[in-house]
Amino acid sequence: MLRALPKMNLAQLLARTARVFPERPALLVGTCVICSYCVLGRRVAAIAGALRGRLGLQPGARVALLLGNCPQYLELLYAIWHAGLVAVPINGKLHAREVAFILENSLTSLLFIAGSGDAAASPAATQMWSAAVPRLRIVAVDDDDYRRLAENQPLTPSAAAPDDLAWLFYTSGTTGRPKGVMLSHRNLLAMTLSYLADVDQAEHADSILYAAPMSHGAGMYSFIHVLVGARHVVPESGGFDAAEILALARSLRQVSMFAAPTMVRRLVDQAAAHGGDGDGIKTIVYGGGPMYLADIQRALAVLGNRLVQIYGQGESPMTITALSRQHHADRAHPRHIERLASVGVAHSVVEVIVADAAGRSLLAGELGEILVRGETVMQGYWRNAEATAATLHGGWLHTGDVGSLDSDGFLTLRDRSKDVIISGGANIYPREVEEVLLQHPGVAEVAVVGRPSAEWGEEVVAFVVCRPDASAPSGQLDRLCLQSIARFKRPREYFFVAELPKNHYGKVLKSELRRQCEDRGEN
Ligand code: AMP
Repeated sequence: MLRALPKMNLAQLLARTARVFPERPALLVGTCVICSYCVLGRRVAAIAGALRGRLGLQPGARVALLLGNCPQYLELLYAIWHAGLVAVPINGKLHAREVAFILENSLTSLLFIAGSGDAAASPAATQMWSAAVPRLRIVAVDDDDYRRLAENQPLTPSAAAPDDLAWLFYTSGTTGRPKGVMLSHRNLLAMTLSYLADVDQAEHADSILYAAPMSHGAGMYSFIHVLVGARHVVPESGGFDAAEILALARSLRQVSMFAAPTMVRRLVDQAAAHGGDGDGIKTIVYGGGPMYLADIQRALAVLGNRLVQIYGQGESPMTITALSRQHHADRAHPRHIERLASVGVAHSVVEVIVADAAGRSLLAGELGEILVRGETVMQGYWRNAEATAATLHGGWLHTGDVGSLDSDGFLTLRDRSKDVIISGGANIYPREVEEVLLQHPGVAEVAVVGRPSAEWGEEVVAFVVCRPDASAPSGQLDRLCLQSIARFKRPREYFFVAELPKNHYGKVLKSELRRQCEDRGEN
């Protein structure tokens, strides 16, 4: 008997909502409605028709988006899937050379850019990209050519097999060249359903606010909110402005957003400075980097119970563990503080273990590498068999993160394994030292790294950013450390800096700090 092949195209999420709830507002810029689901669905089908027809793209071809957050982002993502193509979102803040690498590596056929005034796409940059990918077509979304795409004959959504590639997600590359994480329709659908089951509920009266780059995690929140027919809001500034976000939340109500820890800190500072409490915000999902205990407690005190944490990585997007709203609020629990300092429990579509170097599962409380398997784990790295084999083996995704599980299944992250400091044979987890230093009222941000040492192999040093008009003398920082952690974990030196080097997603570049230590040592 012939078995029908399963089909699963993410574009169906939008086609379904456009049919069932045609009049609901879909896209907004600020508080201004740009279009309904019915209009969005029609535009997506027409643009998809143009991609396959007029632009002649074949199923599986890569289409890159080099755009800041804008309403066209969503229609293009869905049009690409509707047409059976693969989306390659690229952070609009990357250097032209980094963009050239991604275009060439992904063998992209078509690139959408913001427009003529876009600094990222200068004539010199577009020339460089055309040289890197000889038959590359470039379309600006503020151009007449783009407007004409939406006048094309509509296409019916293409069939996609569950494992067909949907999103080539280039890693943020805190070290080395970015790698193209291959995410399938199945991966992204599992991620979406798992969010609704394990992280937060969503409904049509919600607004999802794109305050972080849509080319990264924030864009992935679109699936959940398309599925329930909610509103998608691009702030007028196109990015993260704490005052604008708080004002938008007050007028739109039921606003949810993804925010990296630095963004949460800025929102909390802004709200606290104006006596606000985050009125109108439904959920802030934070993650993507360590959120220190002191910051979570302050955020809960100022904003109330609106926080949810996710631990994920491009290789298992948004979906490894989550710390729910209920766990944030459960102050009566005897391990409430430990839980707040954790990243929560495994999502229901994945299994998570902590393993030793041989891949054997460790006991509760033991530290090891975090391994993940399940529906959201990537297919591999695009055209990079070596990196794929190093990361996906023995049936597990090797995250490169170090942590431990407690007996209730709560996972506590220590650090990326490459950031662990080995001093005199002992492992020192920078995050533990950072948590202590952040308790000093004068410290705004801190990053701890290892510096080569003839005597110890490596020794601990801290880069400290002080709050405006405050100071944090090293003697006081030392005393804080001596009060709460072993003497050998105390930084040997403190460097006071105006800011920490970060990548375009706000992640601290520890490799850059290690390099700075070496430079300082040589001078
Ligand atoms: P990316 O693939 O760029 O999203 O980076 C993923 C990495 O960010 C993970 O492997 C972790 O090291 C870190 N990360 C993600 N979520 C969290 C979190 N909630 N807490 C601490 N670190 C996180």
